[in-house]
Amino acid sequence: MQNTGGTKITIKETQEKLKNGDISPEDVVSGFLSRIKERNKKTNGLLSVFEDATKEIKKKDKKLPLYGAVFAIKDNILIKGERCTAGSKLLEHYIAPFDATVIEKIKKKGGVFIGKGNMDEFAMGSSTENSAFGLSRNPLDLERVPGGSSGGPAVAVADGMCNAALGSDTGGSIRQPAAFCGVVGFKPTYGTVSRSGVISMASSFDQVGPLANSVEDAEIIFNAIRGKDEHDSVTSSLIKKKVKGKIKIGIPKEYFAEGMEREAKETVEKAISKINSPEIEVVKISLPYTEYALPAYEVIMASEVSANLARYDGIRYGLEFDRPAAKTIQDAYLNNRGEGFGKEAKRRIILGTYALSAGYYDAYYVKAQKVRTLIAEDFKKAFKKVDVILTPATPTLPFKIGEKIEDPLAMHLSDIFTVTANLSGLPAISLPCGKSGKFSVGAQILANRFYEDILFSVAKKLEKIWKQ
Ligand code: GLN
Repeated sequence: MQNTGGTKITIKETQEKLKNGDISPEDVVSGFLSRIKERNKKTNGLLSVFEDATKEIKKKDKKLPLYGAVFAIKDNILIKGERCTAGSKLLEHYIAPFDATVIEKIKKKGGVFIGKGNMDEFAMGSSTENSAFGLSRNPLDLERVPGGSSGGPAVAVADGMCNAALGSDTGGSIRQPAAFCGVVGFKPTYGTVSRSGVISMASSFDQVGPLANSVEDAEIIFNAIRGKDEHDSVTSSLIKKKVKGKIKIGIPKEYFAEGMEREAKETVEKAISKINSPEIEVVKISLPYTEYALPAYEVIMASEVSANLARYDGIRYGLEFDRPAAKTIQDAYLNNRGEGFGKEAKRRIILGTYALSAGYYDAYYVKAQKVRTLIAEDFKKAFKKVDVILTPATPTLPFKIGEKIEDPLAMHLSDIFTVTANLSGLPAISLPCGKSGKFSVGAQILANRFYEDILFSVAKKLEKIWKQ
């Protein structure tokens, strides 16, 4: 029997092989498990591995839409009875008491889970170097980062350890690692996918979405996990569709400005020049407030992080000490938070607390919210003229391990092209658009809120063009 692990295989291909009897369900899982055994020591994509996936896949009904699909799940999404660390020492021994809504949905629709993906602590970072459990390595070059914060899930998909993965995206954490590892990453419209059972980072940005080997798989997964959920009050089942006609793609000049690494820029420009279809028109547009996006994101994100991470007080959640209990409640807080959080988490808690403090609230937080509105308006205007917007996914190719970890500002610049979608709640996908040496380069496509339909249809067309 054919072994599926080690080669990148889509859900669709796996399902076909199962249907034709080319492989058995056990083969699907054992192929991935043996790949994990061989590779995970090198890439550290997965923090835990579920050997019982073989048993699980045998129990599933063949008629279910995700039958045969094997997933890695970012370690900030709860699977009942399994450890869920969010990449933090603080949650090293935390066992999830219930399934996240997205997990429940995947289970019901026939999918199985093979392990939990490594990540930057509490989803804060762009390289997985902030994980308390060791960094992950890019399968395309082991000396380079896989991106972050969903670096582990991206590695698992790119390295043939599963069909697909779920990640979370607050400022680019699905799309940037997908671009660095040469896979597809999709952040849905804010509110289309439930965040119940997902460990919060910055709640007005957080969205769960797929990392996959094809745009079609990303769409299949999105359709399986989307929809209104009574446990997440911002969710909606709204779907908007484009009325027929030519597709207009807008190319915003601000995303091709100075400062981008030459190889990345040229690869995306070459990919755009290949778009030559009678159904598609490419037009130049401008999104003038783009340059203020990153600072606005940093202020609002850190403010929300400081509030969300306040719950890790050592009482409800926290480190398990094998030493005498702290004498005062103050000491308990200091011990837990002082020892439990890594450097980046502390930096953001301090920054966010400062931005929300009485004297500075208006100058920073309120100002950033106003900028956020202007950025959303930029997009609103643009979507009156075009159906989708195409940009580079990242300003650079995957960087070297250690290159940016001591320079948080340089690290944060990795998110410059992805944060605008989170600030505006838009759906955005990153997909491979070409190569530079051994590295894959990602293009990003954004659509208006709830227009996933047109987003996937354009992305599938471009995927075909760019694969030729
Ligand atoms: N890299 C970004 C940050 O560090 C985005 C994080 C994310 O999307 N979770 O904030």
